[in-house]
Amino acid sequence: MPLYEYHCPTCNHKFDKLQSMNATGADCPNCEQPAKRAISVFASVSKSGDGMPNSTGPLPPMGGGGCCGGGCGCGP
Ligand SMILES: [Zn+2]
Repeated sequence: MPLYEYHCPTCNHKFDKLQSMNATGADCPNCEQPAKRAISVFASVSKSGDGMPNSTGPLPPMGGGGCCGGGCGCGP
């Protein structure tokens, strides 16, 4: 379960919360107002590791391993 960092715009309180991936938000434990989720570690890592091929180039061969080599089950 990922750990999310939240920042409350109402009272400027910062806190961490363990949540499932599909959780939409959290309330500030200090003032009980809805807090904003900060950028997660996972999101910043995937953004910097952008290795996708140019979309205007030729398409990669389908079923030849592709992005996952069949490990994730997205292939045929
Ligand atoms: Zn607050």
